[in-house]
Amino acid sequence: MIRWSQTLLNTLREAPQDAEIVSHKLLIRAGMMRKLGGGLYTYLPLGMRALRKIEAIVREEMERAGAQETLFPILQPAELWRQTGRWDSMGPGMFRVRDRKEAWYVLAPTAEEAFTALAKSEIASYRQLPRTIYQMQDKFRDEIRPRFGLIRGKEFIMKDAYSFDADDAGADRSYRAMYEAYERIFARVGLAAKPVEADTGDIGGNFSHEFMVYAASGEDGILDCPACGYAANQERAERAPAPVPYRAEAGEPERVATPGQHTCEEVARFLGRPIDQIVKSLVLLVGGKPVMALVPGDRELSETKLRRLFGGAKVEEADAETVARLAGPVGSIGPVGLGDLPVYADRALEGAADVVVGANAEGFHLAHVSLARDARVTAYEDLATVRAGDLCPKCGKPLEIRRGTEVGQCFKLGTKYSAAMGATYLDEQGAAKPIVMGCYGIGVSRTLQAIVEQSNDKDGIVWPAAVAPCQVALLILDPDVPEVVAQAEALGAALEARGIDVFVDDRPERPGVKFKDADLIGLPIRVVAGAKGLAKGGFEIRRRTERDSAVVPPAEAAQAIASLLEQSL
Ligand code: ATP
Ligand code: MG
Repeated sequence: MIRWSQTLLNTLREAPQDAEIVSHKLLIRAGMMRKLGGGLYTYLPLGMRALRKIEAIVREEMERAGAQETLFPILQPAELWRQTGRWDSMGPGMFRVRDRKEAWYVLAPTAEEAFTALAKSEIASYRQLPRTIYQMQDKFRDEIRPRFGLIRGKEFIMKDAYSFDADDAGADRSYRAMYEAYERIFARVGLAAKPVEADTGDIGGNFSHEFMVYAASGEDGILDCPACGYAANQERAERAPAPVPYRAEAGEPERVATPGQHTCEEVARFLGRPIDQIVKSLVLLVGGKPVMALVPGDRELSETKLRRLFGGAKVEEADAETVARLAGPVGSIGPVGLGDLPVYADRALEGAADVVVGANAEGFHLAHVSLARDARVTAYEDLATVRAGDLCPKCGKPLEIRRGTEVGQCFKLGTKYSAAMGATYLDEQGAAKPIVMGCYGIGVSRTLQAIVEQSNDKDGIVWPAAVAPCQVALLILDPDVPEVVAQAEALGAALEARGIDVFVDDRPERPGVKFKDADLIGLPIRVVAGAKGLAKGGFEIRRRTERDSAVVPPAEAAQAIASLLEQSL
């Protein structure tokens, strides 16, 4: 039993100024955590208990899926990160520190390098594959905008797992096992998390799923098909090809004056044309080499899709000088009459005729352009961002856009890290092959807060029973009446004997204060022990989610509480 009178716990009436979302406010107000600095939080005793319960579930499911726990140093030699090029590519988001000998280290933001180094030293033969290992540990990221409490911290707790396989088929099986473990983990902690197709970002690799919790405060956009369940991060979502209904071939390209008109909107309005008949042309540097990309005038180019098309190469906008040299003045460029500049067009432009493009001269556009006839398009690819109302690539029904927060991500890495670091094994024929890898992260601390974001009401937190700091709040209304205290203590002991954890509010406070705090802290079952109630027949028992209590005689109370909990687990 945990007693309030012995616990470092203060509830607050007001949330701090910087708490923007309900879960952040409630975790602070309920005394579960406190801020130490920007993006840095201390878990207080009750918050810590919820965190430990989540961790226990994650561990159980990792072990069930065949993964074994390890623990790596947080402080990692820069040399490891240089081997994969991430010392440079991670940029300012990675914390770097020096020791007294001026040797550089990383405060790990993730741990592919360290795990791959271990695989390199320990795995020699196909007989040692597959293996999946994980750790649960603090990670550090110098986020541009740490905010929303535990949702985006500078320091946070991540469970990161890494799988090592002999071949692609094996890696797919390992991926599947982790993916299924994630589904079980989020279901068990009481969180509705939806797997969505995702980009592989800085981590790299072949394919990926993010587990998203839909929430208005989410920082990711997700295209979601309510009809068939397809869902993908906006960065990577596809759509059923919907070619713009272009008019048939219409004469030769015609140079038209468009003085001062630069954006597609301006040109469309000026020429009296629908905006999707204007083609947006952009010059970008992909892996340092210039390319032109074309999308319909009402669309944005997805740099993520372009990067993926080029195998993960870095994509940057070209500066005005480069654009002018290769095409024309920014705001008036187009794909007609270019030199060797490769042109990649969005699929919706395939067959586009009678469109308007920049004439590569200030103040002019070309009308009646047929891309096939007048431009040299290297390839038509999926390059444009998808938006609500576009058609689902799987079933053709309209997509919706949702906001979400990522609580976990699975990556199929392939041999990106093993090849870079020389982590090979000998196959049955004795040939050295790079190990095929996957990596799998869960934001454990973020999950804690996401649960609260999804599970609360106007009075406070509503903890799912599996992760509540304690399962029962036992409110002693008359802590100075020995008979009441004795009955409450006896019930507490009986509950603990059944493996139910109990938080006792034994403060000398008014009942109203205790009720308010119990709602704010949000334990699944509230039990009231008062002199009046006990004289009338027993404890008053109710779920956090119910308004009315049942009066249960002391002899039956433990059983009644146990069955209530069983129903909610
Ligand atoms: P995000 O897109 O939200 O920044 P990420 O894709 O960069 O996250 P991963 O590298 O996939 O994050 O890390 C694995 C998990 O760690 C994420 O799914 C998320 O739950 C958690 N996580 C990442 N960054 C943070 C952070 N700054 N604070 C808390 N949790 C985080
Ligand atoms: Mg991620």
